[in-house]
Order: sequence, then C-alpha cells, then structure tokens
Amino acid sequence: MRGVALIDAGAGVSAGLFGRRLLAAAGPAGERHLLLTHGHADHAGGAAEMARLVPALDVRAGAPADAWIASGDEEMLSVDRGKASGVYPAEYGFAACPSARPIGDGEQVDLGGGVVLTAVATPGHADGHTCYLLDAPEGRALFSGDCVFTGGRISLQNLHDARVPEYAASLDRLAELEIDMLLPGHHEISLARAGRHLTAARDVLRRGLLPGSTT
Ligand SMILES: [Zn+2]
Repeated sequence: MRGVALIDAGAGVSAGLFGRRLLAAAGPAGERHLLLTHGHADHAGGAAEMARLVPALDVRAGAPADAWIASGDEEMLSVDRGKASGVYPAEYGFAACPSARPIGDGEQVDLGGGVVLTAVATPGHADGHTCYLLDAPEGRALFSGDCVFTGGRISLQNLHDARVPEYAASLDRLAELEIDMLLPGHHEISLARAGRHLTAARDVLRRGLLPGSTT
C-alpha cells in the first residue's frame, strides 16, 4: 500500500479521531490524503485540525472551494446561512486550512495495490463540488458528497453557488459511470448495483423536473 485517503473531514468535532486513524492506517511512510468533496463546513470544517495533527497531509478540494477553505471564507462557504438555519451553532467558526490545494477534474490519486481515486468535477450543489470515483480490485465506488444520494435524490439549497443547470449537467455525467457502490456524504449507502441511483436522478431531469431534495 502506498497511501491512504479520507474523503471529507466533518465539521471538526471528530478531527482528532479521524487524524489518529488516518495516521495509523498510513503508517510512518505512507502518503496521507484528505480529499474534500466541497467546502461546506459539515464536510471541510475539520480540515484545518486534521492538517495540524497529520504531518504532510495532502488536503485537496475542487476550485474555487480550495481557496475558500484555505482562507476560511465563511461567506463563500455559506457558513452564515448554515448558522441562520440552525445547522451550526452561532459560535461555530470555520477554521482556515492554508494548506488546501486544488484538485482538477480527472486528476488521480494512486493509493497502490490497484486502488485509484479519480476526481470528478460535479458543480451544482456548490461551486467546486467534486465526487471521487474509487477503482479497486473489489469493485467501483462513488463518493458523491452532497451531489447525489440513494434513490437519485439531490441537495438543492438557497445558497449563492447552488446552480441548477450545472447540477443537471453533473448528474447527467455521473449517470454514465458504471459503479457498484454509492457512498454519499449523508443518509444511506448502497453496496450493490448502485448505478440505478445515478440513472434515477438523470431520468427525472430528462423529464424536465428536479429530483427530490434531501435538504
Ligand atoms: Zn453541502
């Protein structure tokens, strides 16, 4: 094994636990990657603390979210809206993670042993949203963040960077992927024949409608 990767960091409450597990799994010489699906605090808020705990942690996110995460730009990351809706407590602060760097569409992270992660740019839920496609000897999985959930549901919120046409294009693109497993950032996971969830979303869009939103 060449390295390990964690997809998303949570809001920060469990960053210590995640950091220790990542270090233990990587061993002293293994590469350590933190691949963020997008900048919302429930996915990227723990990145700064993890970067502090894990030496040489490679923190990546799709542009422009990487820059917002690096500077801790609460307005662009919609932390203010999250507080207004009661998702985050009023005293919550997004910790800037200066080491965050961009990951481009199609960029690959090779973890060794035939395990490769590929970034798939999927804007719509938020600018810079990126899914990660995992190819492994055991099968193919999609870490879909907040882009698509089981049953083809989506997450469309009243935020500055929620964009319906981009969202539809992203879901169209994902539906072409042949995957075994779907591992979204919330709700249920699907461990078999998971492509059906992706085509379900596309089929609704082709009828001129929007899939149901989880938020
Ligand atoms: Zn989100």
